[in-house]
Amino acid sequence: MPAPGDFEVVETAIPTPREGQVLVRNSFISVDPYMRGRMNDQKSYVPPFQLGETLTGGAVGEVVVSQSPNHKPGDFVFSNFGWRQWYVADAAEVQHIDPSLGPIQSYLGALGMTGLTAYAGLLEVAELKGGERVFVSAASGAVGAIVCQIAKAKGCYVVGSVGSDEKAAYLKNETGIDRTINYKTCEAPQDLTQAVAAAFPEGIDVYFDNVGGAHLQAAIANMRPFGRIAACGMISQYNATEPTPGPNNLVNIVGMRLTLRGFIVGDHLALRLDFLRDMAQWVKSGKMKWRETIASGIDKAPEAFIGLFKGEHIGKMLVQVG
Ligand code: NDP
Repeated sequence: MPAPGDFEVVETAIPTPREGQVLVRNSFISVDPYMRGRMNDQKSYVPPFQLGETLTGGAVGEVVVSQSPNHKPGDFVFSNFGWRQWYVADAAEVQHIDPSLGPIQSYLGALGMTGLTAYAGLLEVAELKGGERVFVSAASGAVGAIVCQIAKAKGCYVVGSVGSDEKAAYLKNETGIDRTINYKTCEAPQDLTQAVAAAFPEGIDVYFDNVGGAHLQAAIANMRPFGRIAACGMISQYNATEPTPGPNNLVNIVGMRLTLRGFIVGDHLALRLDFLRDMAQWVKSGKMKWRETIASGIDKAPEAFIGLFKGEHIGKMLVQVG
C-alpha cells in the first residue's frame, strides 16, 4: 500500500510557452487505480513512473496563455500531464472539452476515460445484450456506477457488489440497480459465492470484473453457459506483497463455455463518439447520473489516491487543484 511519505510536493518555475505551445492552469486532476501498477518496475501496457518525476495522468484545466491558433485563453482542455497545477504543452498535446455536456471535471470521470471504460467493456468486450443478468464489482466506484447504469439503460437485471451499506444505498436509490451485495459482510470466499448465487438464481450472463480474487471466483461459480466476463481490473491484488491465490474453479470456464477477456480502454478509442452520443441521451433522459468525491489541494492528491484502495469514496475520486 503506498504511503503519503512516498510522495513529495515540489515547487518549480513555470516555463514560458513558445510558438505552438499553451500555458494551462489545471483545475482538476484524476487519481486512478491503474497508477498503482505504474509504481511497480515492471513491463506493462504503460511504462512505470520514474522516481522523482511528476506523475502523469488525466487532468482538466484552462488555457491561460496561447501561442497556438488552435487554442485561446479561457478554453478548457484535457491532457495527460497529470499531477501539477500549471504546465506548458505543445498545442497537439491538449484536447478541447465541451463544457455544455457536463462540468469540466466529468471529462475525467463519467464523460471521459472512466465512462468509456464502462461503455467499451460492457458493450464491446462483454457484448452485452438487452435483458441479460449482469454482475458488477466495485459497483459504486467511478467505472462500476457507470457500468450499472448502462446495463439498466439496456433493460438488464443488475447486481452490484460494494464495500459498505452506504454505497449499497447509493446504488439502490440513485442508480436504480436491482440488488446489492456488501462483500465485507462475507467472511470467507464461499460466503461471497453464496451471496452471488442468492442474487442470481438463474445465473450470470455478464460479469464486469473490477476486483479479481474472491469476486472473480464467486462470479465464475455462478455464470450461465456461454457467459462473458470483461476483466477490467483486479484492484484486490494491486498492493499484494505475496502471490495471490487464483480462482480455484477455472475449470468451469470449459464446462460452461465461458469467455474471459481482459481489455484496456485505450484500445477502444474508436468508440468515443458513439459513447458521447449515447451518454448525452442517457443524461438527458435521466438514465445516467454520477457522483464525484473531490479532495481539495494538490497536497491532498496522495491521500486521495491511497483512498482508492480503502474504498473511501463514492463515484469518481478527483483532486481540485485550481
Ligand atoms: P473506483 O472508483 O472503483 O475505486 C476503486 C474501488 O475498488 C474502491 O472504491 C473500493 O470500493 C474497491 N476496492 C478497493 N480495494 C478492494 C479490494 N481489496 N477488494 C474489493 N474491492 C476493492 O476505481 P475506478 O472505477 O477508477 O477503477 C475500477 C477498476 O477498473 C480498477 O480495477 C481499475 O484498475 C480498473 N480500470 C481499468 C481500466 C481499463 O482500461 N481496463 C480503465 C479504468 C479503470 P469498495 O468500497 O466497494 O470496496
